[in-house]
Order: sequence, then C-alpha cells, then structure tokens
Amino acid sequence: MFCPRCGREYSDRVNFCCQCGAAMFAPPAEHKLRRSRHDKKIAGVCGGFGEYLGVDPTLVRLIWLVAVVFGGTGLLAYLIAWIVMPEETLAETKAAVPAQTGAAPAASR
Ligand SMILES: [Zn+2]
Repeated sequence: MFCPRCGREYSDRVNFCCQCGAAMFAPPAEHKLRRSRHDKKIAGVCGGFGEYLGVDPTLVRLIWLVAVVFGGTGLLAYLIAWIVMPEETLAETKAAVPAQTGAAPAASR
C-alpha cells in the first residue's frame, strides 16, 4: 500500500504514514474525474477524461483539439477543466501504473 499524501510504500498494514502522518486507509474505489498525472500532455485534463470515460486519451485530445481549432471554445473549456478538476493522488498514479519503477532497461544490470 502507498501513502496517499507522500507516496511512500508500506509492505505491512499501517494506520498512519510515519513519514508525513497521513491517514493510511484504503483508497476509495469510486471512479472520480481527475486530471491524470501519468497520462498528460499539458495538465492531464484529456488523460483524466479518457480514464473516466474509458476511452483512449488520444481520442479525447483529438476531439478537444478539433473543438479548439473549429470554434475556439475548447481552449476555454480546457482552462476551466484544468482549474476545476483535482489532480489524481500519487497513490492513484501508482495504482494505474504499477510496474513502471524497475522496468527501465538501464536499471536491470
Ligand atoms: Zn506519507
């Protein structure tokens, strides 16, 4: 399990993080609209929408870009979404990308 605030990993069940003191309860399994940390080009808005809707974030970016180019409202909508949408927590990022650490080819010697 990971600390939801600082991202420190714990192998055992603990109630509070010894590094930052955050409560270590099981993260809510509910599906929330958040800006993605691990799949982002600018602020993670399209990545977050893609995860939320269960579609390819690249498709969301493409549609959003078309809205920006043909109409101009997409840019304002992006800025509003950037402000309104909370960024996903470190724990959520690690849950979405479990095997990224250690998978780097340079580290495997
Ligand atoms: Zn912590």
